[in-house]
Amino acid sequence: MTSNAAISVTGLNKSFGDTSVLKNILLDIEAGERVVVIGPSGTGKSTLLRCLNYLDRPDSGSIRVGDLNVDPASASRADVLALRRRTSFVFQNYALFANKTARENITQALITVKGQSEADAIARADETLRETGLIDKANSYPAALSGGQQQRIGIGRAMALDADLMLFDEPTSALDPEWVGEVLDLMRRVAEKRQTMLIVTHEMQFAREIADRIIFMSDGQIVEQGPPRQLLENPQDPRTKAFLRRVGKTGSSEGYS
Ligand code: ADP
Ligand code: MG
Repeated sequence: MTSNAAISVTGLNKSFGDTSVLKNILLDIEAGERVVVIGPSGTGKSTLLRCLNYLDRPDSGSIRVGDLNVDPASASRADVLALRRRTSFVFQNYALFANKTARENITQALITVKGQSEADAIARADETLRETGLIDKANSYPAALSGGQQQRIGIGRAMALDADLMLFDEPTSALDPEWVGEVLDLMRRVAEKRQTMLIVTHEMQFAREIADRIIFMSDGQIVEQGPPRQLLENPQDPRTKAFLRRVGKTGSSEGYS
């Protein structure tokens, strides 16, 4: 456990009913590190990300971000809100408010999660809209935007929070193929700033380019992990080998979610 870990997770367990979905997850992510998680459908990747943000409450395990330590045995509402300020989430289906404009979707998050004033929230939202290339869409409602533009707003909302860790759960899986490129381009720009990122994706070429580390998960456990070249070219575990054979080197996401 190094001192500049952006997040340290120990002994994380989560079950739904009788089904154990996360089994004793141990994970440290360094500040500035870009980590990609891959693995078969139903393996617990989304549940892991959701537990890190307490969208799902873990059954046990501690999550440390900076000086904040959150444990389900003792976590207060204030601890959970503090964790959400430090971790931001990009959803597969964007999760934008349909009745709010692009700008309002971002200001709303800044006001509720960070307690910013409306004026500060608008200034930060517009800065983010410029960064994502969508300032001209500030007053558009999600229904008037393409899937790619909606997801760029989803990413902009997460960027605006200036979180210690950005979580991305298959951010391009719901997109028509024509919009995937612009979303990956925006994520590349976020990665270039050395924002700490934990990304679930099947875009293997993208993972190879931007990841400092790839984690392969199966059946609720981290099976193996390493730098992209090592994990993709020289996987050790039979489950990793079988998965990589199925998704291939470039990783079309078709058929995997
Ligand atoms: P992945 O993202 O790797 O596809 P998930 O984390 O979504 O996997 O799901 C892991 C397992 O947990 C699956 O068996 C799924 O059906 C189950 N699961 C996820 N969320 C819930 C929930 N809210 N209630 C019950 N079961 C769930
Ligand atoms: Mg998932």
